[in-house]
Amino acid sequence: MQMNFVYEPNASRVVFGVGAAKQVRDEVAKLGSRALILSTAFQRSDAERLAQDLGTLSAGVFAEAAMHTPVNVTEKALAAFQESGADCIVSIGGGSTIGLGKAIAYRNDAPQIVLATTYAGSEVTPILGQTENGLKTTVRDATILPEVVIYDPELTVGLPVQMSVTSGLNAMAHAVEGLYAQDRNPVSSLMAVDALRALQAALPVIVSEPTNIDARSRALYGSWLCGTVLGSVGMALHHKICHTLGGSFDLPHAETHAIMLPHTAAFNAVAADEFLRPVAEIFGGSVGGGLHSFAVQLGAPTALRDLGLKESDLERAAELATTNAYWNPRPVEKNAVRDMLSRAWEGSPPE
Ligand code: NAD
Repeated sequence: MQMNFVYEPNASRVVFGVGAAKQVRDEVAKLGSRALILSTAFQRSDAERLAQDLGTLSAGVFAEAAMHTPVNVTEKALAAFQESGADCIVSIGGGSTIGLGKAIAYRNDAPQIVLATTYAGSEVTPILGQTENGLKTTVRDATILPEVVIYDPELTVGLPVQMSVTSGLNAMAHAVEGLYAQDRNPVSSLMAVDALRALQAALPVIVSEPTNIDARSRALYGSWLCGTVLGSVGMALHHKICHTLGGSFDLPHAETHAIMLPHTAAFNAVAADEFLRPVAEIFGGSVGGGLHSFAVQLGAPTALRDLGLKESDLERAAELATTNAYWNPRPVEKNAVRDMLSRAWEGSPPE
């Protein structure tokens, strides 16, 4: 068998384990002298508790992180960073908060420490999506990758079950697309398969017992691997469609990924069956059928119409998701994508 690949890992320091959040003091002291702590308004109390724990290592809290990293919020946070005398960033939260930390670092190269509290995976990618004047653009740069990521499963115990499920399925989408990525390599594929195994085992336990710390650990481990795959190989149709539905139709990030995953995986299985075989093995049945049954078992949303997408939007969504050529294992043809979106809209199982 011929093997040709390029392997270029993103170097973050990862500190993983129950109670790992206590190490944030040591990590801040290694990188700087005072950290600005970032969160959403919803997680402000977590950020304030962290500021108290950090004592003189804290330069204050900025709790205005928002979905899709609006540039006006970043500018406000940059001013707060400068005024506070901070020399590093601590982000506590999911992709929205991590996005704000990345946006600051992209502009001033401040070192970042992330305490990840969802399964979205942004903390281990050098990718930043930001919005200005209603337009979402994506940049990739070495300054964007957080220097340190702390994964403490205890920080995820409070993530509501429904969000845990959709966030976990969002993570799985990175692994599934990583398996057939054009620039996949043996390490990214190993990570993707182990990630899918971990999330397949953990998510049903979290649904029935949200405080089960072993399941929380396993899910967080899986999402670290999924994020690592996302940061190291190229994504395809699934991410393009979710980006379109989020950016142009304002659909929520994790739920959209959760609904689309069985459909896009089934669509691409036609051309990438060999690479997706582990998915069929782990979830049982066919690639799309197995993923769909898993989502239903978890009580995940299955219909785009329930997220507020109108049937009349499907044509434009298919149009947008098929313009600007990008690599996908199966040719991306508008009518086929429109049919797939139609099934996802009404909540039917994938073809
Ligand atoms: P999020 O960060 O928007 O969080 C959703 C809500 O849940 C927020 O109010 C948050 O404060 C709250 N929350 C987070 N963790 C919690 C916890 N443990 N307990 C209780 N509440 C909690 O959601 P997300 O799905 O993590 O991130 C979505 C955003 O991240 C999108 O904008 C997406 O584009 C971006 N993203 C970027 C990348 C990348 O590599 N650049 C990767 C994945 C996602």
